Amino acid sequence: MGKKTVLVGVVLLAIILAGVGFVFSFLSSQDRTTQSRQTFETSEAASSQAAVIQVVAGENFWGSLISQLGGSRTQVLSIVTDPNADPHEYESNSQDAQAIATAAFVIVNGAGYDDWALKLIAAGNAPNQVVLNVADLLGKKVGDNPHFWYNPYYVNATIAAMYKDLILIDPSDSAYFTQQYSSLNVSLGEYNQRIAEIRTEFASVKVAATESIFVYLANATGLDLMSPPAFMNAVAEGNDPPAQSVAEFQQLLENHTVRVLVYNSQTLTPITQSMETLASSNGIPIVAITETIQPSDVSFQVWMNAELLSLQNALNAQAMKS
Ligand SMILES: [Zn+2]
Repeated sequence: MGKKTVLVGVVLLAIILAGVGFVFSFLSSQDRTTQSRQTFETSEAASSQAAVIQVVAGENFWGSLISQLGGSRTQVLSIVTDPNADPHEYESNSQDAQAIATAAFVIVNGAGYDDWALKLIAAGNAPNQVVLNVADLLGKKVGDNPHFWYNPYYVNATIAAMYKDLILIDPSDSAYFTQQYSSLNVSLGEYNQRIAEIRTEFASVKVAATESIFVYLANATGLDLMSPPAFMNAVAEGNDPPAQSVAEFQQLLENHTVRVLVYNSQTLTPITQSMETLASSNGIPIVAITETIQPSDVSFQVWMNAELLSLQNALNAQAMKS
């Protein structure tokens, strides 16, 4: 491709992007400067260097990780980011369709969590587009618990797959990606450490959760999750839990069988709120967790570390009482 063709391409792309009112979430304004300078340098160098990889992540928990891994070689757009909306209910718009159609790399959660994204991918896209479907990677299907980012083993497996895919897309930057991969793993140290600490201090301690979102983390931390699966699954799917599971759940709180109640503060319903009220009136500490990153401008690790710390503190507070 000649210098002129590239420049025309860049100008056309700029017009298209402006036309559809694209909003890419850059890490900072400094990054934006770096990004545009790189685009310029790439065109000057007549495409001897690989261009910045356009990445779309269905949700910001995967978007945060790929953005930390891809660094300056990627430009990442996360679609589901609203901390006040239920991601299970997300409906895509034409901007999402445009973003997915033109991305070189798309990361979706799968397992029914973001079917809207799978539909957009199936609509036909940029040639050689690489798609990482986390559910497929983990051998999971629709109906399985889709909250894979709450499982530290799945998080590690997904980061490894992202790393492999980045090298597949841009082999000339493999040394850079290897360095980024190692830094990202180092920065997940506190997260892994805190999970290990909770396991050491509180394995087998009985807890309850209003939603299946906590199941993977309960397993990783060795906590004994007593709440009825029928209740947790129904709430995750947006359905009414069976009456018997509600009664069982209430007994766990009223009888002080569980030390802590974990609830999903992003998908509140009257039934989960009534469990929260019952827990507080019985003096059982409540730990709030969310589906997507909260606050939405922090990294995956900052968000997870804060949730793990509040879980650890709640378990500690109860351990002191008994
Ligand atoms: Zn959920």
